Amino acid sequence: MDKKFGDKLSALDPRFRKKIQDLFESMNESVSMLYEVATHDEKTGLYNNKFFETLLDMEIEKAKRGKQKLSLIIIDIDFFKKINDTYGHMKADELLKTLADVTTKNARKSDIVARFGGEEFIILLPETGLEKAKRFSSKLRNLIHSDKILKKHKVTVSGGITQFRNKDSDNKKKFKERADKALYEAKENGRDNFVAVR
Ligand code: GH3
Ligand code: MG
Ligand code: MG
Repeated sequence: MDKKFGDKLSALDPRFRKKIQDLFESMNESVSMLYEVATHDEKTGLYNNKFFETLLDMEIEKAKRGKQKLSLIIIDIDFFKKINDTYGHMKADELLKTLADVTTKNARKSDIVARFGGEEFIILLPETGLEKAKRFSSKLRNLIHSDKILKKHKVTVSGGITQFRNKDSDNKKKFKERADKALYEAKENGRDNFVAVR
């Protein structure tokens, strides 16, 4: 709270002061709730796609200016339609949330994990080159294989990995398309694997 306003508040009758303080507290809570709803996906708790785009723009700018490395991974659950058909939508939704938690746990604080589409997540790794991004994905793959719930329901993922090229010719669209193309290759390779393209 700003000092001038604080001084004015303390000069008030204590009953009014309490009322105004309560009002401010509830306004703060509403703003926090609005922020959460506007930036996060309800089902998984991950960032939503819209907010991810904003963060991606910012990270690409940083990568261009500071010539920092920046990697991107798109993951897609293998045969999720079959998982829905086998266990039902409610269970499949729970598995989606479990996968989101496992992915977030594997990530650093500075990494950005978002729900890209239905059963697709997108992970942005600032200050991370392709080799480290590959290590991230193999750690994630191991975590998915060893998670009790995911293992029981035979959840695996395929993923595409790429690095921002730091050249004028590279841009957001191409960056995302490279990761998406690599993901398709991983699916063609038989799924449950990651493909990296430079
Ligand atoms: P592939 O290995 O080729 O990715 O196979 P797939 O079955 O995962 O792919 P496909 O694109 O054919 O189907 C995706 C399925 O994911 C279909 C849809 O019902 C399911 N799905 C998407 N979003 C959700 C969701 O929020 N909850 C649940 N339960 N299912 C979802
Ligand atoms: Mg998909
Ligand atoms: Mg899928």
